[in-house]
Amino acid sequence: MNIHQLDINKLQELETPLYYYDMQLLANTLDSAKKAADKRGFHIHYALKANFNDRVLQLIQSKGFGADCVSGNEVQKSIDSGFPASKITFAGVGKSDKEIILALKQEIFAFNVESIQELLVINELAEQEGVKAHVSLRINPNVDAHTHHYITTGLDENKFGVPNSELEKAAAVLRACDHVQLLGLHFHVGSQITDMNVFKSLCVKVNEWKNWFEERGTTIHVLNVGGGLGVDYHHPDEHPIPDFEAYFEVFDKFLERNAHQEVHFELGRALVAQSGTLVSKVLYTKNGVKKNFLILDAGMTELMRPALYQAFHKIEKLGDSGENEQINYDVVGPICESSDCFGKEVLLPTAERGDYIAIRTAGAYGEVMASRYNLREEIRYLYSDQIG
Ligand SMILES: *Cc1c(COP(=O)(O)O)cnc(C)c1O
Repeated sequence: MNIHQLDINKLQELETPLYYYDMQLLANTLDSAKKAADKRGFHIHYALKANFNDRVLQLIQSKGFGADCVSGNEVQKSIDSGFPASKITFAGVGKSDKEIILALKQEIFAFNVESIQELLVINELAEQEGVKAHVSLRINPNVDAHTHHYITTGLDENKFGVPNSELEKAAAVLRACDHVQLLGLHFHVGSQITDMNVFKSLCVKVNEWKNWFEERGTTIHVLNVGGGLGVDYHHPDEHPIPDFEAYFEVFDKFLERNAHQEVHFELGRALVAQSGTLVSKVLYTKNGVKKNFLILDAGMTELMRPALYQAFHKIEKLGDSGENEQINYDVVGPICESSDCFGKEVLLPTAERGDYIAIRTAGAYGEVMASRYNLREEIRYLYSDQIG
């Protein structure tokens, strides 16, 4: 059941704040993505960093997705959750030796390598372990994702990827390293991208770099174009499932590939964001001189995106009869930071202590970023399939 069908009486038996997961919507979203990808022969690795809740992971794994990891613990978590090692990729600018060794021992599908130095370290550790590491080179394509600068990753000034000026050298290093095998190329230009032209620009760059390598006699088996597809934070009910058809169609149309080349994706947010809602209770209302405040029992410790990137989340009062007058509230949390604010001047029905407030589209980069700052309680959950 969706968040609006949730019985307030049920909530009253539980402690808040809590993360509510609509498991049916998650299943439908996953099916929609899988269908659109399968029909084009595309592979999707779910980016664990968006949400590594056990129930969420179980469902994603059961639908046949691979996993995209950015730490050794995420690699381990994917294995423990049943993702086959042959479908696990490992990215990140700062992989430690311990993390690399773990991934080598597990024989994962590919390391997405971000520098020549890292390539040499992987080669050395693979030799030590007596294995051959499969790698994709992460190339920074200098494509502007037109998204918030904190979540733009594909520009020359970003820390990610092998700098273009070093690719010639990287290709030579790869030829010289006996314990790494180049699988392909990897790209990821940013997150919450809603303009399909960005992905079209990415395809153009991928084609260029693919040709560049092939002209130098290097075989490219895998084109990994990363993730980044955005969701509609403003209209979660109108657009609960992203338009995966349109997204994959861009790549199908603009990516040049030979029969032996696989196309891989690393979607995080688009698969999980709309299925999660942070449910909170109004602790206090404060009508100041200039502002009306709603003070919630949830704060930036449960959902940091607004404080971290001024992110917008739709805020709703649950179980409202529709009879209350609407007024503007600053909706804030209890944490001792002025940035602990979910929304300013949010038009909501007049609310009272004890009312429930939903913060929507919180399924991605929500609970994974939770902290114990102020010695807050552990995150609590409610899954839609737990209630009748
Ligand atoms: C974060 C990340 C992703 C997932 O990004 P979304 O915007 O959640 O789809 C994919 N690949 C890499 C390398 C990442 O760092």
